Amino acid sequence: MAAGVILLLTLEDRIGNVNTGLSEEAVIKCLKHRRYLLFSEENASKEFCSTCQDEYVGEDELGTLGCGHDFHAACIKQWIRCKNLCPVCKATGLNTMDPNIPTNL
Ligand SMILES: [Zn+2]
Ligand SMILES: [Zn+2]
Repeated sequence: MAAGVILLLTLEDRIGNVNTGLSEEAVIKCLKHRRYLLFSEENASKEFCSTCQDEYVGEDELGTLGCGHDFHAACIKQWIRCKNLCPVCKATGLNTMDPNIPTNL
């Protein structure tokens, strides 16, 4: 059991060294949330989440990146924590330099 925990910590350390993602705290602060409304006009054509390839369904919680692309909030949070890039257009995912976002740096 203890060995497993150590292995996990070591793995996180290694990922940390090449990490270009954001901390969970930064993701929570920067990610814009909205609800997907299945029957609204702007969503007349099917939209889907590029990270998990699933179509949005009514009332899914979405996260919007700085470039305007939408994803499931849960999917994009995981993604941004690994890479702060939009999976679709490769733009910077979340701009942590936004003056409206307090940082501890
Ligand atoms: Zn998804
Ligand atoms: Zn994008």
